[in-house]
Amino acid sequence: MNDIHDHYCSICGEQRAEGEGIRIISGFICISCEMEMVKTDVKDAKYPFFIHQLKGIFMEKNA
Ligand SMILES: [Zn+2]
Repeated sequence: MNDIHDHYCSICGEQRAEGEGIRIISGFICISCEMEMVKTDVKDAKYPFFIHQLKGIFMEKNA
């Protein structure tokens, strides 16, 4: 199991400490990625990338 003090961001893969991001259903999103997502417009080229990454997270839960 994962160390409770460290999380690997499901978007960028960076290791982050507790409090440096948000925990979601079966993953973790670091604060920088969270901010990126918030300011990413649906029309932005990066948006599909975020959606793709998030799909992976949520599909794990249903596996
Ligand atoms: Zn990240």
